Formats: sequence, structure tokens, C-alpha cells
Amino acid sequence: MKKTIVVALANQKGGVGKTTTAVNFSACLAEKRKKVLLVDLDPQANATSGLGVEKGASVFSAMLGESGCQELIQKTGIKGLDIIPSEIDLAGSEVAIARYDDYLHRLRDAMEPVIESGVYDFIIFDCPPSLGILFMNALNTADEVIIPIQCEYFALEGLGVMVDIVNQIRDAGNPQLHISGILMTMYNLSTNLSQQVVQEVRTHFGKNVFDTLIPRNVRLSEAPSYGQPIIQYDSNCVGAIAYRTLAKEFLKRQKQSVPDEPGESSLYNLVPADLAEEL
Ligand code: ATP
Ligand code: MG
Repeated sequence: MKKTIVVALANQKGGVGKTTTAVNFSACLAEKRKKVLLVDLDPQANATSGLGVEKGASVFSAMLGESGCQELIQKTGIKGLDIIPSEIDLAGSEVAIARYDDYLHRLRDAMEPVIESGVYDFIIFDCPPSLGILFMNALNTADEVIIPIQCEYFALEGLGVMVDIVNQIRDAGNPQLHISGILMTMYNLSTNLSQQVVQEVRTHFGKNVFDTLIPRNVRLSEAPSYGQPIIQYDSNCVGAIAYRTLAKEFLKRQKQSVPDEPGESSLYNLVPADLAEEL
């Protein structure tokens, strides 16, 4: 039976390209014949609507024990890509979930049957822009985290907090959790700023940054209003090519990756001390 890898797209900063990446990266993995389940963990439900799926019972109902996760899975217009949609109720979930003693592990327990079934190659979480309970649940369930950051000033702002939390969660009981890569998004070919930011991030984080850069591409911002991922909306635009390249690079890294010894080669330990303070 295949092992399902759970990947969280996370950054507490808003508008950095988490959802755009979740939708298009998932679609590109499915195009490469991987079986993918996208879980929309954001009450904004942008990933749900971006795939043209009706909002519906969310993973929240499974976290509350009201339904099984399997029943929540819906098909999308892309072969091989399924989704557990979001609903606005997810917004109230943090309060409701907080009543349980195991409030940080409700998602992991709810998802376990789906993960254990081995039906999916990858489960992708689109996280909300916060460090709240849903986010913590996502990290307690995930094997890997991809952190999208925008090629703008202050790109690294808040990254230290993210890295800290990932390390804390890993040490507190999710030992396989690691940052699989930082993804530079909204790269603007025509500005020096984008190039400078990429250079700075690469200097600090080296091989932990994906080689693939996601360019700023208006087609990527239009596609969600048609409820389509970019490979359906405009299959040959630069945005589609970039996300295909990312999927390819990610799969290649999966083959090469040797599990980290906790604390040895994690991203945290690659942050130079002076930068760690700055972050
Ligand atoms: P939030 O934190 O609110 O969940 P997010 O991190 O999920 O935001 P997105 O919703 O993916 O970010 O992107 C923010 C906005 O930027 C959206 O309007 C999206 O269409 C646009 N956008 C994202 N990536 C690109 C890109 N590469 N080129 C052009 N526009 C983009
Ligand atoms: Mg989002």
C-alpha cells in the first residue's frame, strides 16, 4: 500500500499565494497521475470556489465527530483531484474545538482513516492566514510544510515565527514534520526588487528554497473566478508552466529526500544566528 504524504501550505501572513499554490500545485500533481486530496482549511473557502466546488460540509464536522472524513470528499473537474470543501462554519470551529482536551489533534484523528487507506498519494492542506487552532491541527497532521512567500519587501517577516512553531510541533509529538521548501511567489520579471528578494532568500536558505519561481501572472488571478485551476483555464500560460515545474521539482525532491534526524538538518538549524534574531 502506498504511503500518503500530507503537505501543509502555510504562512500566517495573508495574501502570499497559499491558496493559489494549493489549487494549482494539487492540479498539477493530479495531471502527473498522482491521486490528490485537497483539504480547504480556510473559512474564506477560496480553494473550494477556485475549483468550482460548492461550499459544503467541511472537515470541521469530522473534527467534531459529526461525520466521517470519507463522506466529506467531493470530486473536482480534474481527474485524480478530490477536495474536502470549506464552509463559513469553519470560522466558528476554533471556539467549538477548543472545548476538547485533544483540540490540537482533532484533525489528525479525523483524517486518519483517509491517510491510512492509502488511496491518495498526497493530501494537501490550504491553511488559513493565522496561527490559530486550525493551523496547529494542520501542522500536527502534516508530514511536510511548504511556505509560500511573496517576492516583496518584508518577504521574510514572520518567517522566524513559522519556523519556530514547526520545530515546536515536531518536538512535541509530530517527529516527521519538516519544511520541505520555501516557495517564492508573485515574482515580477520586470523589477529589480523581485530579483533582490530572491537572492536574499536564497542566500539565507539555500537548498531549502524551491528552484521554481512562481511569476506574477494575471491568468493565475483570473482562473479562480472561473472555478478552474490554471492548467484548465489557460494550460500554456507562464503560470501554468511554473506550477507544472513546481510539481515536477517537488516529486523529484520526494525521491531524493532522506528523512531528517530531528534537529539535524531542519530549516531552523540552517538559519544563521544573526538572521534568526532578525526574524
Ligand atoms: P490568504 O492569506 O488570504 O488565504 P493566500 O496566501 O491564500 O491568501 P492567495 O489567495 O493565493 O493568497 O493570493 C492572494 C491574491 O494574489 C489573490 O487575489 C490571487 O489571485 C493573487 N495571486 C496569487 N498568486 C499570484 C500570481 N502568481 N500572479 C498573480 N496573482 C497572484
Ligand atoms: Mg488563502
